[in-house]
Amino acid sequence: MSNHDYASQQLSKVLSRIHNACTEANRESHSVRLIGASKRQTPDLIRAFYDCGLKHTGENYLQEALDKQAELTDTRLEWHFIGQIQSNKTKLIANHFAWIHGIDRLKIARRIVQHNEREQQPKLLVQINIDDEDSKAGVAYSEAPDLCAQIANLDGAQLVGFMLIPKAQTDSHAQRATFAKARELLSLTNQRHGLGMNELSMGMSNDVESAIAEGSTMVRVGTDLFGARQ
Ligand SMILES: *Cc1c(COP(=O)(O)O)cnc(C)c1O
Repeated sequence: MSNHDYASQQLSKVLSRIHNACTEANRESHSVRLIGASKRQTPDLIRAFYDCGLKHTGENYLQEALDKQAELTDTRLEWHFIGQIQSNKTKLIANHFAWIHGIDRLKIARRIVQHNEREQQPKLLVQINIDDEDSKAGVAYSEAPDLCAQIANLDGAQLVGFMLIPKAQTDSHAQRATFAKARELLSLTNQRHGLGMNELSMGMSNDVESAIAEGSTMVRVGTDLFGARQ
């Protein structure tokens, strides 16, 4: 099968999952963005998905992402940084991504805002360590509201919402309980600090439906979209 036929088939499959989950939840399909989580996928394959209609791509590793961007400059792909952010990389990240999902400290947010040289500030999402796992990045649940208030106070910062990577669970009730907790934390944070965050970056290959049922606005799908990683 050509890359193009493969991309077309895979994209339809994932888009219909999103569509069905939205219908089930009484939501409009266009209220959920599909981000192709494209780490370790080739630029050619990403291009085939773009040609079939994929608009957003998410990358975890800065150098890998910059190499791909250089090969895909003629596209209008919107690039999301979804990996961990090292503070010595903030300048490149600020200037090469429209969306930055892994903010977990004030210092990182401040550096991004200061280093941005483009007209538009990148949109920032605070990563929440929703299951309080030692192995995962992200701000602790209880510290999220204050961190958001501090970031929102930075001159020019565009804080738009939360991102999370829950621990793997197969039971959809358990998945939904975790996503609901993030949705409630977002509204609590907005209320407490008078913020207007409205993005929830949650849901991956195995839990897209549960995430959408609980208000996800961006699902980051890798394996079920592109196939196994190289
Ligand atoms: C790899 C990755 C994904 C996609 O995971 P799949 O299970 O392959 O869909 C989503 N989000 C982040 C942050 C990732 O690193």
